[in-house]
Amino acid sequence: MKTLKSFFMLVILAVLIGGGYYYFRDTAAPEAHLTPQAGAIKEDAVLTLTLGDQTSGVARVEVKILQKDKAIPVLKKDYPLETFQVREELPMGNLLLEDGPLTVEITAVDRSIYHFGKGNTTTTTVSLIRDSRPPIISIHSVAHNLYQGGAGLIAYSVSEPVTRSGIQIGDTFFPGYEQPSGVYLCLFAFPYNVDTEEVPRLIAEDQAENVGMGGFYYHLNLKNFRSDKIGISDGFLDRKMPQFQHLFPDAATPLDVFLKVNRELRPKNRARLLDIGRNTATQFTWTKAFLRQPNAANRAKFGDRRAYIYNGKIIDNQTHLGIDLASIARADVPASNTGRVVFADFMGIYGQCIIIDHGLGLQSLYAHLSRMDVQVGDQVQRGQIIAKTGATGLAGGDHLHFGIVISGIPVNPAEWWDPKWVTNNITSKLDLAKR
Ligand SMILES: [Zn+2]
Repeated sequence: MKTLKSFFMLVILAVLIGGGYYYFRDTAAPEAHLTPQAGAIKEDAVLTLTLGDQTSGVARVEVKILQKDKAIPVLKKDYPLETFQVREELPMGNLLLEDGPLTVEITAVDRSIYHFGKGNTTTTTVSLIRDSRPPIISIHSVAHNLYQGGAGLIAYSVSEPVTRSGIQIGDTFFPGYEQPSGVYLCLFAFPYNVDTEEVPRLIAEDQAENVGMGGFYYHLNLKNFRSDKIGISDGFLDRKMPQFQHLFPDAATPLDVFLKVNRELRPKNRARLLDIGRNTATQFTWTKAFLRQPNAANRAKFGDRRAYIYNGKIIDNQTHLGIDLASIARADVPASNTGRVVFADFMGIYGQCIIIDHGLGLQSLYAHLSRMDVQVGDQVQRGQIIAKTGATGLAGGDHLHFGIVISGIPVNPAEWWDPKWVTNNITSKLDLAKR
């Protein structure tokens, strides 16, 4: 009798524990997450909702948008058993919403029997701002006369805060920088390799990703770039390729190394310039035209189309994107203008190379150096000796390869040496940004 009683007690206890376990197994509500979590959305934005409930699964969800006194239904859905993860896209385009603040209210329920079978409910609200209007751009500068491969400056303002603005030409984007007055300045180029039919566009994007476009007057002067032939001798290959061999261990001959340097390392170095170009002051750090290394003869020019000849055959074609200046070996290299050193290291074809930032994406580049006397972060003055010329990198003999780069895109340096061009095209427009 006594054992039977104990047995029933045990069974009741087991049922209580089991039932209790099942009842209390899932007391946590589903997790709901909306992207974006805050900020502005455009008219046809698509919000992403994710729901998760690892224990009992998601049973149903309801999403509404509350704006002023309206509650607009967005989604109401039941899910099959064992739905542990849910991802829903919520297009805003067809909903009758107004610009301004709104609240997204998400209510999700799981399959738990907790709360006497009703399950766990979560209600999440996210506050967003609807913005259907792109920024309006007003252009303040008038004449924008560019040479192919050359530069220009545009001054403009925007009607609302922007996440980015600037000039887009083909695949290249030149960012504008906001000045203390609120006016933006964008230094841009007509890149040497962009189709001359391409139209530069001034764009401004707000936080909701609405893109406004501004048309502006510009005139493009075409340029006849020179053609040049460069003979590649075995002597040159034997002297210059060992420094690159470790980058291309599979290249069997010095000629293979050379072709890889030209075709693979060169574009990598160019891509690096794009990164360095973003590391720039938001205002110009200089006032006078750029200095040219004194007592040096111009060798190769900007935009020279080079054919490389080996044993009488063209083995490769590349464009020269700076100006080569030759004087005595190990000649002094002056900083072409006042600025901050943003690069001083070995960089592939450029060898030992210094890049100085002059603001608004404008940077000067000094390549093939035998010695560098400045470090990253140093402030340098116009004319200050920063290095000695050499033949490091892909240089046949001792010379300075001088480059001017705008937001990572090489432009014709000769413009920046010309005080008249600098005044007419650049510095005379700076006053427009002071008002
Ligand atoms: Zn060069």
